[in-house]
Amino acid sequence: MSKVLVIGAGGVSSVAVHKMAMNADIFSHITLASRTKSKCDAIAESVKSRFGVTIDTAKIDADDVAATTALIKQVQPALVVNLALPYQDLAIMDACLAAGVNYLDTANYEPRDEAKFEYKWQWAYQERFEKAGLMALLGSGFDPGVTSVFATYTKKHLLDSIETLDILDCNGGDTGLPFATNFNPEINLREVTAPSRHWENGQWVEGPALSHKQVFDFEGVGQKNMYLMYHEELESLAKFYPEIKRIRFWMTFGDSYLKHLEVLENIGMTSIEPMMFQGREIIPIEFLKALLPEPSSLGPITKGKTNIGTIATGVKDGVKKTVYVKNICDHQEAYAETGNQAVSYTTGVPAMIGAALMLTGQWKGAGVFNMEQLDPDPFMDMLNKHGLPWKVQDLDAPLDF
Ligand code: NDP
Repeated sequence: MSKVLVIGAGGVSSVAVHKMAMNADIFSHITLASRTKSKCDAIAESVKSRFGVTIDTAKIDADDVAATTALIKQVQPALVVNLALPYQDLAIMDACLAAGVNYLDTANYEPRDEAKFEYKWQWAYQERFEKAGLMALLGSGFDPGVTSVFATYTKKHLLDSIETLDILDCNGGDTGLPFATNFNPEINLREVTAPSRHWENGQWVEGPALSHKQVFDFEGVGQKNMYLMYHEELESLAKFYPEIKRIRFWMTFGDSYLKHLEVLENIGMTSIEPMMFQGREIIPIEFLKALLPEPSSLGPITKGKTNIGTIATGVKDGVKKTVYVKNICDHQEAYAETGNQAVSYTTGVPAMIGAALMLTGQWKGAGVFNMEQLDPDPFMDMLNKHGLPWKVQDLDAPLDF
């Protein structure tokens, strides 16, 4: 029985809050606060009509540390779940330290003027959280999040040692729209337009964005083009599993998405550099975000499945083995349950699970934690029970690319 304060009211938050309400024995009281209170109220209404659970709502600008600290002190939660944007991570961590409350998020801090996707800023909070006896759990979404838990589970149960790890993220969902991003457009476009980077033999290997393509046959989806990309869990996986020789991240993109992206990039619309427009400063990618559909509005129109998993090669009992751990999630089933498409669902459910494990004391500690540092078993168990069942498949051979 614990109080939780959720910050942010987009697609991911909507799923997490619905799932928390479905587990009222753990989340006895939920307060949802965000910049636009009407979005919190709409989620609260949906939760009330689906599950009969009342949640409190509030308006907060989470960039304002003093206001967020005051809200936390007023609500007195056992945990703050940050489902706003990566820009707010440090401000909300500061507010948690000031109010003496545990912290969880799903994406690492990003300065507005740099697209870096690095943990260094949040890892720098280790000593402060440790001294305060508080826990900060970083990246409890799907990727980062479940993918790191899959790797940890693989290391614990399936292989004695991991030699190579590939993360394969496929969204086979179709919105019928020529161009839409399935999570926050600004963050999505920053990720996709960044140079590709993977970990090999103890160092980063960098290449141009989206320049390395492979075709892969995804169960439940079919054949898709996937592209080598940098993704933030590569950094924590390389840190916590230094023995892995190669760690790569792949994501699928359709031709229409890439065609639009190329044009938008070529004309400067994805730039994060400020520019003057009609006497005021604007940032092109922020303007573009305003034009694109909100991810939370895509639920009713997205059809198809996501398939996200890890393929690890290593040795078990002296024999070389390749194991694939994956989850397949259906957009329309996700929508029927919480009113949101599967990309929000596959992030919101792990956020709820990470929060539940912290609130019940199954995951505990003082300091800043990545998912790789914690026991994967209770998390894997909850994935099966709360809508993201996973399976393990032995592959005949390692990936040949
Ligand atoms: P959305 O853009 O749909 O929602 C973001 C929410 O944060 C909005 O309600 C927004 O308010 C709110 N917000 C923004 N700035 C502030 C602020 N200063 N104070 C308070 N609230 C604020 O994003 P998503 O739901 O798609 O994503 C949420 C988070 O999840 C992001 O950090 C994203 O990177 C992460 N994510 C992680 C994934 C993973 O697998 N680990 C996958 C997908 C997403 P407003 O409505 O007023 O704009």
